[in-house]
Amino acid sequence: YAKTAGGNTMRFFEAAMQATITARATLESELRAALAGDQFLLHYQSQVTSAGQIVGAEVLLRWQHPARGMVPPLDFIDLAEETGLIVPLGLWVLEAACQRLERWSHHPGRRDLELAVNVSARQFRESDFVQQVREVLSRTGADPRRLKLELTESLVQDNVADTIEKMKSLAAMGVRFSLDDFGTGYSSLSYMTQLPLNQIKVDKSFVQNIGVDPKVELVIQTIIGMARNLELEVVAEGVETRQQLGFLEKHRCTLFQGYLFSKPVPLPEFEAQLDLEMVG
Ligand code: C2E
Ligand code: MG
Ligand code: MG
Ligand code: MG
Repeated sequence: YAKTAGGNTMRFFEAAMQATITARATLESELRAALAGDQFLLHYQSQVTSAGQIVGAEVLLRWQHPARGMVPPLDFIDLAEETGLIVPLGLWVLEAACQRLERWSHHPGRRDLELAVNVSARQFRESDFVQQVREVLSRTGADPRRLKLELTESLVQDNVADTIEKMKSLAAMGVRFSLDDFGTGYSSLSYMTQLPLNQIKVDKSFVQNIGVDPKVELVIQTIIGMARNLELEVVAEGVETRQQLGFLEKHRCTLFQGYLFSKPVPLPEFEAQLDLEMVG
């Protein structure tokens, strides 16, 4: 009996594993097709000051799947990393963002806008990453000072020496850096002073605990205080309520991003937000 049950269990696992492998293989070939076939697009989520002024946006990747509709990045970024497809995909995002910056540079009301682009570990570790960014900048004519690269703590930590070297080369061109999802990774404060960082982003998991967990509120205050002491900008991500905003402002956070202001939206909608701001 035990043997039969064991055999059934084995068959069950084999079937489940086979299904997983097949699903991954499908997704992988669909990702390749998507890259070749223009199925990716960018959404823009505004970043605003306490006065409500839009200083720029974070660029967020979207996959418009022909059958499945809009696929969120969490459903494909990991696989894109594992397969290496994130390298061409990330380059495409960077190029599109830089093209946008170049267009905006001719527009008086828009030339100071900044775009933040997420960079994956696989992409950043490419030996020619710095050269790739340099080429995109020169190809598009974008002002490097308007480009901000978002790196995560785990990326930074994975190879601190390589990270510092690449960041310094890019910073020398004028590119700026933000440490994304701050506080959720293996935070090591030791590298904070070694990196040419301009900004940290307080992760939304902290922001969502404002008014919920007093200990998390203390952590946020500590993060903001540390950033101020290191003369770094602080952006709070995932701001959804007035209460959260009030707390963050009180503790001298100066930049905000979240549904309270806007969801990530397609370019025409983001530009409409900018136009509205000019009028209002
Ligand atoms: P992230 O870089 O931390 O981006 C912030 C995420 O929070 C975005 O999710 C955004 O839509 C979401 N968000 C913003 N405001 C709010 C809010 O008020 N409430 C809530 N609940 N969520 C909010 P999204 O667009 O699904 O992206 C998820 C992650 O996928 C990003 O996290 C980033 O790690 C990754 N990602 C997105 N685009 C790219 C890309 O072009 N390249 C790479 N390598 N990763 C990307
Ligand atoms: Mg980000
Ligand atoms: Mg983030
Ligand atoms: Mg996050």
